[in-house]
Amino acid sequence: MINITQNKTAIPMLDIKAQHEPLKEEIKQALKDILDSGQFILGPNVRSFEQETAAYFRVDNAAALASGTDALYLCLRALDIKEGDEVITTPFTFIATAEAIAYVNATPVFTDIDRYSLNMDVSKIEEKITPKTRAIVVVHLFGRPADMDEIMELARKHNLKVIEDCAQSFGALYKDRRAGSIGDAGCFSFYPSKNLGAYGDGGMMITGNRDVCEKVKLLRNHGTVAPYRHSFIGYNSRLDEIQAAILRIKLKHIEEYNRKRRDLARIYTSVLGDVVQCPAETSDRTHVYHQYTIRVPAREKVSAALKDNNVSSVVYYPTPLHLQEAFHYLGYRKGDLPESEAAADEVLSIPVYPELEPEKAEFIAGIILKTVRD
Ligand SMILES: *Cc1c(COP(=O)(O)O)cnc(C)c1O
Repeated sequence: MINITQNKTAIPMLDIKAQHEPLKEEIKQALKDILDSGQFILGPNVRSFEQETAAYFRVDNAAALASGTDALYLCLRALDIKEGDEVITTPFTFIATAEAIAYVNATPVFTDIDRYSLNMDVSKIEEKITPKTRAIVVVHLFGRPADMDEIMELARKHNLKVIEDCAQSFGALYKDRRAGSIGDAGCFSFYPSKNLGAYGDGGMMITGNRDVCEKVKLLRNHGTVAPYRHSFIGYNSRLDEIQAAILRIKLKHIEEYNRKRRDLARIYTSVLGDVVQCPAETSDRTHVYHQYTIRVPAREKVSAALKDNNVSSVVYYPTPLHLQEAFHYLGYRKGDLPESEAAADEVLSIPVYPELEPEKAEFIAGIILKTVRD
């Protein structure tokens, strides 16, 4: 048992209400304007949010959608990935990444991760490429951009599409470009807990390819080319005006939110860097710390000590996708992707959100330091 003064107030994994507080008057006014206008679907806020997001990423096209999962799915549809195709991705991610591949009846092909970055190990991708491989879905896990130069080089060599799953990396920089603007398309989620979070579900696809964006915009709206004229079977996957208005307000603060996350990460890494594996940082990219995830063999002991001190922590992700029941049909077995499996046994994410006070991060780091050393 460690002997640190009990923390009086609980420290959660994130505090959505604290983020809302300074924005609430502006958001109330935006909501009032929408309620008064009576326009809730595909109106001016969605159009402006698409333009503002495209400008932020320095791309020409953006399509606002109902969720990040839909962004991945509709993007794969628009890129004509289909039955019989193989799509290479990481097993160490949220299930939506691979679900989207399954939705288009393509086969997810899982490739192992790098033990330090927790992103796809680019030295292991090429051996997974077959004549059926059509695309790579790369995830910038926890907010750290993956090795995009190597991935784009492989894609050029083998004529593959690259889709960036940026659900956790809004705003992260890879060299001088933002993650999401490097591959054929970038897919974002505005689930409330993400770095840019809506007050409900939401998503976005960005792309340099105008045709792909037009196709996604038709897919999201029942394939409607003119009122009640449908050129193909689509879906209902639109972002609504209320979410778009809230996201436009929050987008103005994303740099500050991400900077605060990075400041907290610096505190954690400075205290813990010598005793546990902290998130990898390199000078050629910025990590935006959707999660601050350490690797610690004594994970249970550390999470129990945090809990004793009223501090939340979560294991993202306890089971890699290749071992999930949902993907049993793919035929993977334990031991197939050892780095992903080892990571699943050792990772622990600790609180990192813009409103967390630096003193709290020092307190949390202190508990972990003491627990690991004891
Ligand atoms: C959150 C998330 C998604 C899915 O986004 P939703 O908006 O919840 O559908 C996809 N991929 C990753 C890596 C995520 O973290």
